[in-house]
Amino acid sequence: MELQSKYKTLRDVPQIDYLAPGGSLCAGCGGLLAVRLFHKVLGKNVVWVNAAGCMTIMVNYPLVPLKSNWLYTAFASAPAGAQGIRDAFDILIRKGKIPESEDLKVVVLTGDGAAYDIGLQSTSGAIYRNLDFYYLCYDNQAYGNTGFQVSSATPVGSATATTPPVPSEPAGNIQKRKDLFEIWRAHNPPYIATLSSSYTVDFLRKVEKGSTFKGPKLYISLAGCPTGWGYDPRETIREEKLAVETGIWPLKEAVEGKVKHTVVPRALKPVEEYLATQSRYQHLFNPVRRKEVIRSIQEQVNLYWEEASKREDFEIKLVNT
Ligand code: SF4
Repeated sequence: MELQSKYKTLRDVPQIDYLAPGGSLCAGCGGLLAVRLFHKVLGKNVVWVNAAGCMTIMVNYPLVPLKSNWLYTAFASAPAGAQGIRDAFDILIRKGKIPESEDLKVVVLTGDGAAYDIGLQSTSGAIYRNLDFYYLCYDNQAYGNTGFQVSSATPVGSATATTPPVPSEPAGNIQKRKDLFEIWRAHNPPYIATLSSSYTVDFLRKVEKGSTFKGPKLYISLAGCPTGWGYDPRETIREEKLAVETGIWPLKEAVEGKVKHTVVPRALKPVEEYLATQSRYQHLFNPVRRKEVIRSIQEQVNLYWEEASKREDFEIKLVNT
């Protein structure tokens, strides 16, 4: 039976904040917004296990802007840290040393660098062991806090510090993103979802829904990154919304492996409406328009939605190429 969500409109967004303002992350950081929303749903009984990444700078030791708990780990080992905490709580509760009411939800917090690359092995092990934890990846599509180098989540066409457009490779990054959603799905966890803070109710509902499952729960949240993507920090919500409306960032979930798109645009907007707003893609428009690269990005998006619409039997108007 489908869960009756308590999140129906924006009025239902909890007013309470577990994350204090005034941190040292970049203004307009979409990753931080995702953490804020995620926390609102889980409540205060949380321990964040933070893999090295942008969110590391959220904390300036000894000042932690969270009304919850935080453990810092190296890039590769956050799921192992989560396992240790989960085991410790399970044992203490079983032995009656602490009451169940003091149990904490264990949340691994990673950027795409740790999630797609450096921490993939330990993540795979934790899912295999059916660890009861949440995994929130704020996906800004590059190694943000070290200067925006390419990661295996970087989209085709994006310029990064290590894939600048050069005469021999004018498109910038030419590697396709790994499909982390499908990598997780192949491990058979109970719940996986993609998120965007710009679709706030969808976001909150998915965190609420995932909480009803015991075991590994993955959330990949698009993390608009004004610093690396090159747009005005005020526009994070607009950028993330455009990513969904153009079909570049599909909002979906997989419950016990069964995939369903939770937001289906009736008609896709052309991808260039999104690309043109960010400096990481400006070399696709200036000094010459790289129409073959833009067309190829559009074709990939069309292909994705064509296949999804057949599998799930929904209608969607694609963009002519
Ligand atoms: S580099 Fe991007 S993801 Fe990292 S803190 Fe700044 S805005 Fe956020």
